Amino acid sequence: MNYRHAYHAGNFADVVKHVVLVRLIEYLKRKDKPFRVIDTHAGIGLYDLSSTEAQKTGEWRDGIGRLAGIDPGIQATVLLGPYLEAVNSCNPDGGIGFYPGSPWLARHLLRKQDRLTAIELHPQDAVRLKGRFEGDFQTRVIELDGWLALGAHLPPKEKRGLVLVDPPFEQEGEFDRLAAGVEKAYKRWPIGIYALWYPIKDRRGVADFRSRLTASGIGRVLDIVFEVRPDSSSERLDGTGMVVINPPFTLEQELRLILPALQAAMAEPAATGWRLDWLVREDS
Ligand code: SAM
Repeated sequence: MNYRHAYHAGNFADVVKHVVLVRLIEYLKRKDKPFRVIDTHAGIGLYDLSSTEAQKTGEWRDGIGRLAGIDPGIQATVLLGPYLEAVNSCNPDGGIGFYPGSPWLARHLLRKQDRLTAIELHPQDAVRLKGRFEGDFQTRVIELDGWLALGAHLPPKEKRGLVLVDPPFEQEGEFDRLAAGVEKAYKRWPIGIYALWYPIKDRRGVADFRSRLTASGIGRVLDIVFEVRPDSSSERLDGTGMVVINPPFTLEQELRLILPALQAAMAEPAATGWRLDWLVREDS
């Protein structure tokens, strides 16, 4: 396990992933009934952007660093509000010195009746994450292989909620593991919302993943594609993808307002930009 998210925290892929995560949680909060967020690859929760790792790549500068001071238009501003408010609340003195990871964001948004399960396999990262949520009865941090959680932890007792699967893609076969994992999870809990992150780098792998989900028998599958540069045909991250299974009916329309604003802020002018593709619609 060589991957450390500290090198990448706050980059464009994190911004898109976390904006979608926040919209999904805000939707779940429309009803009073409790829900659970399960984060299968959680990381350490909060990232110091002045750390050696973050400074070495400087990736956050082309991500969250580009969002400061933009004017996304009234509707997108409202929709981005809870995400930006969460980022600001990690930085009470202003500026962007810290960036929140997915478990931090999820926990920040929970109401008192909601719960978070955050899973992390890297022993040191799991210890840091446990420390961050120590004494918090709404959050359970588990040092575990996140792929196992897709079986053992579903369905949650709340019966409503969201599973974020955000693997590091450092090993061969990650697309297959992701597809197989969610197929298994969906059988156990077909009404859950699932958000699956993937990199746009190995385009053959992306195409195969999309085809597999299209043929999987899963009812509603929305694929969110966000590219920041033209296809570089290299190991470089050209874009970021997120598949959402059982997306809220509001999500597509919200993203049609949000993604152009994120594109203007973070993508190169020559990039193909963003796309929303229904891989499967229930009524199709
Ligand atoms: N979800 C985090 C966020 O948005 O802030 C970032 C997660 S990072 C992309 C992937 C994380 O998964 C790393 O912290 C890594 O240590 C962890 N990891 C790698 N393999 C894992 C596994 N099999 N189960 C659980 N965690 C794993």
